Amino acid sequence: MESRINGHTRLFALIGSPVGHSGSPAMHNYSFARRGIDAAYLAFDVPEERTADAVEALRTLHAGGFNVTMPCKTQTARLVDRLSPAAELIGACNTVVMEEDGTLTGHNTDGIGFVRNLKEHGVEVKGQRIVILGTGGAATAITVQAALDGAAQIAIFNRRGGSYSNGEKTVEKIRRAVPDISRVYIEDIHNRDALRAAIAGSDLLVNATSLGMCPMEDRTPVPAEYLHPGLAVADVVYNPRETRLLREAKEAGCRAAVDGTGMLLWQGAEAFRLFTGQEMPAEEVRERFFAE
Ligand code: NAP
Repeated sequence: MESRINGHTRLFALIGSPVGHSGSPAMHNYSFARRGIDAAYLAFDVPEERTADAVEALRTLHAGGFNVTMPCKTQTARLVDRLSPAAELIGACNTVVMEEDGTLTGHNTDGIGFVRNLKEHGVEVKGQRIVILGTGGAATAITVQAALDGAAQIAIFNRRGGSYSNGEKTVEKIRRAVPDISRVYIEDIHNRDALRAAIAGSDLLVNATSLGMCPMEDRTPVPAEYLHPGLAVADVVYNPRETRLLREAKEAGCRAAVDGTGMLLWQGAEAFRLFTGQEMPAEEVRERFFAE
């Protein structure tokens, strides 16, 4: 690594807190080396209230770009010069690119990564009826991207309170920005009749809540009897890799059961493409950093 660094090496970064556990530095530095790109990627622990300072510092240092993780994603979207259509709708960005003229463009690759990972598992979004559980950061990115990518119908479920109002805003934004979508609505996840009926009439179920994540791995957001063979099930949770929801989806004969690790890989691959204009060696990265 040290032998690659010289007076021209371009800085890329991750900001947010915590960042110590992040796989992004390893994934990007490996890919820079494999692609012969003179760049280095470092993670910086930045609390939310220092987001503006960090963005300004990276601007001053003329970094090539940076990723943003919680809790800095929303603030960053307000600080950059331009936003991609998806980042604008989501109201948060996880990838910022320094353009040639020094302007900062914010993107959100979480939804793109999620959809790409589905595609890798033979599951399409276009024309599909989708139930999305959750109204937090990951859920919003996925909901917006699914709408932009031509989902026929999206039903969002979350418990009332918490981020529910965020989901209501997402519904309104999608209705305005994607008028072709035949139906998008939000409902209380505790309304079991509505949830059961929505899943029965859907092609794809997405868990974008943290239910099922360690230490809640014994929990699932949906009773197993709601699952059916016509349904593909995807979970954003990647710890554990196989959540209770995915285990029960396999037992119910669901047509696909997709875990959250691929979303991590493909959101990073999309960021790499935006940073460098080149493809990340995704298969090598998967084998090296995401093998079971
Ligand atoms: P977030 O913004 O805090 O949203 C959390 C969501 O989970 C909200 O909808 C929340 O509902 C719901 N939730 C939390 N605890 C719950 C419970 N006990 N019962 C019912 N609902 C509950 O978090 P996030 O950033 O979206 O992350 C959500 C999950 O996605 C995490 O497990 C995270 O690791 C994962 N993730 C994965 C990737 C990937 O690349 N695979 C990327 C980003 C995130 P309330 O608003 O009602 O609390």
